[in-house]
Amino acid sequence: MGKDYWKDDLNGREAEREWMVRTQLRSRDITDEAVIQSMLTVPRHRYVNEDKQELAYYDTALEIEAEQTISQPYIVALMAQALELKTSDKVLEIGTGSGYSAAILSRMAKRIHTIERHNLLAHLAEERFNSQGYENIEVRVGDGTLGWTEKAPFDAILVTAGGPEIPDSLIEQLAPGGRLVIPVGKKEDQHLLRVKKTLSNELIEEDLGAVRFVPLIGTKGWNETEAGG
Ligand code: SAM
Repeated sequence: MGKDYWKDDLNGREAEREWMVRTQLRSRDITDEAVIQSMLTVPRHRYVNEDKQELAYYDTALEIEAEQTISQPYIVALMAQALELKTSDKVLEIGTGSGYSAAILSRMAKRIHTIERHNLLAHLAEERFNSQGYENIEVRVGDGTLGWTEKAPFDAILVTAGGPEIPDSLIEQLAPGGRLVIPVGKKEDQHLLRVKKTLSNELIEEDLGAVRFVPLIGTKGWNETEAGG
């Protein structure tokens, strides 16, 4: 796609989203139409700083404030697909970041509760949700490794930062029949795991492949001084 392509689409950048979906999602293994529709709808360029907007629909993660990142579009879609959401689901997200993935999930589920440890990021994300009319997302500042007890149980839990292990608090807050998706491994390289809790409370774990996320920092994550960020 040539650079002039951007100038042709001043009306919400729909053409760029279509290009992103065709070349980065459909061409890989994203087949869930609810995910595709959400990725076509949410204006990713409004979740990054102005100087990064031209790159918003490229096949890459981008830096945001507080030395954090907005994940690569394909990874956001892969995680959303792995959650197997129903429109009646209540979802917990750990790591609001820019707010982009919460916005994507909000089109596919009933309610999203999202936790971010950085005040500034939580505040900016909330402003985006308000200005874009996403009314089913609640943001909280805190340590997401402890979950959100008052709102539990959740039909689905998404962790968008990489931890050393699966926090037991998140397993506890997962409803029977629920799905938890989390990157687990070393500080810089992890595997994306999906844990399903059966109706009889058994846990089934699957490895969805290698990924690279910023560290999950908190009581049941990495220690802040070792991890930075
Ligand atoms: N979902 C985000 C998006 O769409 O922009 C991407 C998030 S970024 C890869 C990971 C985020 O997790 C960072 O904003 C980081 O501050 C946050 N984070 C790390 N540890 C956390 C914790 N214990 N609780 C809440 N947020 C945490």
